[in-house]
Amino acid sequence: MIKITNIHKAFGDNEVLKGIDLDIKKGSVVVILGPSGSGKTTFLRCLNALEVPEQGVIEFDDGSLKVDFGAKPSKALMRKLQQKSGMVFQSYNLFPHKTAVENLMLGPVIAQGKNKADARAKALQLLDKVGLSDKVDLYPFQLSGGQQQRVGIARALAIEPDLLLFDEPTSALDPELVQEVLKTMQQLASEGWTMVVVTHEINFARNVADVVMLMEDGHVVEVGPPEQLFEQSEHPRTQAFLQRII
Ligand code: ADP
Repeated sequence: MIKITNIHKAFGDNEVLKGIDLDIKKGSVVVILGPSGSGKTTFLRCLNALEVPEQGVIEFDDGSLKVDFGAKPSKALMRKLQQKSGMVFQSYNLFPHKTAVENLMLGPVIAQGKNKADARAKALQLLDKVGLSDKVDLYPFQLSGGQQQRVGIARALAIEPDLLLFDEPTSALDPELVQEVLKTMQQLASEGWTMVVVTHEINFARNVADVVMLMEDGHVVEVGPPEQLFEQSEHPRTQAFLQRII
């Protein structure tokens, strides 16, 4: 469903992504693992053009949307790519002066031109889905970290994306709040959402991922089902990484 080919990204002299390929099947969950600084977040941000690669191609739905970064894509095409995915950030990135429901309405109303009444109805439905129907009129500072992140997830859903991107969604949370966010993500996975998740939560990778991709130093070390990486990998760098973290 989504084909990503040969993504290259540098910051000045620092070549951070050195040719990343990945195929993502509709309805699958891809978890990206790897040491800090290996390029995981940069790769995720390239998928919705929050970072613009120098080279590489992203294709949705057998080429119905094809962005070739090497060929200087137009702004309109980049906007189309951005509309395809919803991003959930490590630090939630909610608007502090907007309530939960208003945070969800902004994307649909401003970026997609939806009318406010429809956007509000949809936002209320999504807040209910993530267990926050009693918090709709609260501001981010009135919510726990786990609740803020669930608003962040609902906000990503509000633009009706094809793909959900999660950038270390539980890393900023107190340990006792991690599970409520992982549970929400697991629910979305079981509903058939297509998801790419950068995380250090190994149990989530083991239990929820269909595909695990291990990155190191801007390269893909290994990609495959969790059983392959966790139980059967013969790749010395996969084994070394897992020994360090498990
Ligand atoms: P990871 O998510 O695996 O920890 P990142 O993608 O965050 O890795 O970072 C990979 C490398 O890219 C690091 O060396 C980091 O310093 C660099 N980097 C990331 N974002 C930027 C940026 N906006 N400007 C300059 N360097 C960056």
